[in-house]
Amino acid sequence: MTKRVGFIGLGDIGWPMAAHVAKVYDCTVWNRTFAKVEAFATENKAAAAESPAGVVAASEVVITCLPTSKEVLEIVQQAGDAWHNGQLLIDCTSGDPGGSTHVAEFLRARGAGFADAPVSGGVGGAERGELTVMIGGTDEDAARAIQVVDCFAKKAEHVGPVGAGHAVKAINQGLLAINIQAAGEGLAALVKLGVSGKKALEVINASSGQSNVTKNLFPNRVTNRQWPRTFRLALLDKDVGIAVKILNDNGVPSDAIGTAHRAFSEARRILGEDADHVEFVKVIEEKAGVEIE
Ligand code: NDP
Repeated sequence: MTKRVGFIGLGDIGWPMAAHVAKVYDCTVWNRTFAKVEAFATENKAAAAESPAGVVAASEVVITCLPTSKEVLEIVQQAGDAWHNGQLLIDCTSGDPGGSTHVAEFLRARGAGFADAPVSGGVGGAERGELTVMIGGTDEDAARAIQVVDCFAKKAEHVGPVGAGHAVKAINQGLLAINIQAAGEGLAALVKLGVSGKKALEVINASSGQSNVTKNLFPNRVTNRQWPRTFRLALLDKDVGIAVKILNDNGVPSDAIGTAHRAFSEARRILGEDADHVEFVKVIEEKAGVEIE
C-alpha cells in the first residue's frame, strides 16, 4: 500500500492535482520556482523539497506534471542516484511516446517502474478531482498508478504499453484543436451574417455539430469575452505537434490535424507563450474583422 507520494511541477494543473495528493498521502513537493513550493506547503499538508532528488528520496511513488517529456527526462536524470528499486514514476505530463521510452529505460536501469499518465479535464476538473487519466505501462505499473491517481481522477484507464497514454492524449488534443478552429471559423462567419454568436451556439448545442468546445469553451470564454488562462496555447500547439508526428510515423494521413497544427503554431507566434488555448479564436476574429458575441 503506497503511503509516500511526491509531486514535481506545481503549474496551472499540477497544483490542484498535487493538492488532492496531499490530502491522501504523505506528500513531498518540488517546483522550479521555489516560491510556489513554499506557498503550496503553507496551504497544504505537504513537505517542501529543495531539489527533485529530495522528492525522489522521500517518496515511494513520484508524480511529474511538466510541459514536455524533455523536462521530465532532465528532472528524472537530475534526481540520478536517488531513484531506487521498487519506486514508480507516474508522468502526468502531456508528453510524447518516444520521450516516455527514454524515461522508462533510465528508470528501469535503476529498478524503478514508469507509467505515462496524461490527464484531461482542465484545471476545473483537477480542482474537482474529476480528471480522466490515460495510462501507458506494464500491467503491474499501470495497476499501481491507477490506485494513486484515483485521488484526482474520475476515470483512469490502462490503454497500452509505455507511451500509449501519451499517444491517446495527443490525438485527443488534435480533436480539441480542430474543434476550436472549426467553431471559431464557423461562428465568425455566422456573426458576420448577422446571427448572434450566443444564439448560434444555443442552436448548435441542440444539434449534431455540438462538442465540448461549443458547449463549454465558447459560452464560458468567447461569447462572454472572458478569456481566462487555464491551459496555455503553447502547450496545445506542442500536443498537436506530437499528434502529427504519431500520424506521420504510422503512415496515416494528417490533413485535418496537420492543418490545425499549422494554425495553432501561427497563433502561438502571434499571441506568445502565455496566451490561453482558446485565445486562438482571437486570431480568427482579427483576420475576419469580427468579434464572436
Ligand atoms: P504550466 O505551464 O502552468 O506549468 C508548467 C510547470 O512545469 C511549472 O511547474 C513549471 O515551473 C515547470 N517547468 C517548466 N519548465 C521547467 C524546467 N525546465 N524544469 C523544471 N520545471 C519546469 O503547465 P500546466 O500545469 O498547465 O501543464 C503541465 C502539463 O499538463 C503539460 O504537459 C500540459 O500540456 C498538461 N495539461 C495541462 C492542462 C491544463 O488545463 N493546464 C490540461 C491537461 C494537460 P515554474 O513554476 O518554475 O514555471
